Amino acid sequence: MEAYTEIREAVAKLCAGFPGPYWRALDREMAYPTEFVTALTESGYLSVLIPEAYGGSGLPLSAAAAILEEVQRAGCNGGACHAQMYTMGTLLRHGSEAQKAAYLPAIAEGRLRLQAFGVTEPSSGTDTGSLKTTARREGGHYVVNGQKIWTSRAEHSDLMLLLARTTPRSEGMKRTDGLSVLLVDMREAVGNGLTIRPIRTMMNHATTEVFFDTLRVPAENLIGEEGRGFRYILSGMNAERILIAAECVGDAKWFIDKAKTYASDRSVFSRPIGANQGVQFPIAKAYANMRAAELMVREALSLYESGANPGAEANMAKMLAADAAFEAANACIQTHGGFGFAEEYDIERKFRETRLYQVAPISTNLILAYLSEHVLGLPRSY
Ligand SMILES: Cc1cc2nc3c(=O)[nH]c(=O)nc-3n(C[C@H](O)[C@H](O)[C@H](O)COP(=O)(O)OP(=O)(O)OC[C@H]3O[C@@H](n4cnc5c(N)ncnc54)[C@H](O)[C@@H]3O)c2cc1C
Repeated sequence: MEAYTEIREAVAKLCAGFPGPYWRALDREMAYPTEFVTALTESGYLSVLIPEAYGGSGLPLSAAAAILEEVQRAGCNGGACHAQMYTMGTLLRHGSEAQKAAYLPAIAEGRLRLQAFGVTEPSSGTDTGSLKTTARREGGHYVVNGQKIWTSRAEHSDLMLLLARTTPRSEGMKRTDGLSVLLVDMREAVGNGLTIRPIRTMMNHATTEVFFDTLRVPAENLIGEEGRGFRYILSGMNAERILIAAECVGDAKWFIDKAKTYASDRSVFSRPIGANQGVQFPIAKAYANMRAAELMVREALSLYESGANPGAEANMAKMLAADAAFEAANACIQTHGGFGFAEEYDIERKFRETRLYQVAPISTNLILAYLSEHVLGLPRSY
């Protein structure tokens, strides 16, 4: 597997143009990093996974992982735009030729943003099979009613990949059957049956709740076959988990670098605080955990790129990397003492940002439940 050294260096250089003060100012206002996302888009980084035939670079998933890892390692936040890399996969794998030709080149050029992914609902949570949003076929349209929550970047996206129920649940039917994926053009939908409301969160993540009130979506925007949407969404989840894991490895590296530097520079009781084992051991442990997580990310990537279905490895990579990032964040804040809490060090901001990944896009418990059932053969717990 390639290391993508040149891409990594170029991404680091781009990110150097977006230092701490840029992110701090946005964080205070809860504003979207438009200039950063534009720079990443114009440099072609958000379209590396789009095949060359559609105007992208056609690179494998490990290139996307390297890009996102470097973004986080530089102290930036890919959460503002990372979804485009993996949501696009559903369109690429399951969309018709006409849909791919209509959307992918425009996405690759940066004229169209596919950043929003509407799966989670307030009442169903992780239990996707019980989602309540419906899409009822009426002639040449689907009529959508319902609500999604945590639909990130909806205000900064042109398109949304939406999972909705097209066949009512009936007895004996598998809970995840009867769901379909629709590509919603939000430029037309907002004000015509789609309402977006931002949710203020503990970090700046541009997330929202969205309401559908008899929104009409052209039937030609159905991705793949009606009723098979859950499978299509599932098929993109390995990529999503691996990419988020790579971001967490980048976060862990950023925290470890910060902690190491500060522990060497800060002198208390007439010697560097890093000379104390009580200060250096948590950093060393965070380093070991980060490296172990990084190896699992590589394993998952290599299986993914060989065409295997690395469900277990993608889940483990995501869990280990999210834990490693948060452990590194905790060690970093502790190493900085009071200064860890000061906005100008960026540590408290990154601490809040990286905490998300133990919950989203899939929480740690659900990963453990997956491993228990599918790898260890234990009884299904839910
Ligand atoms: C900032 C942010 C951005 C997000 N962006 C998106 C997005 O763009 N699109 C989207 O569709 N979703 C998005 N999400 C939603 C995210 O994927 C969910 O929050 C996550 O999957 C957890 O679901 P939930 O919040 O409904 O928790 P719940 O399912 O209500 O679970 C709550 C807690 O209970 C635990 N739990 C639940 N069931 C079990 C069980 N059977 N065994 C053990 N533990 C269990 C969970 O692990 C969790 O800790 C986002 C969330 C956040 C916070």
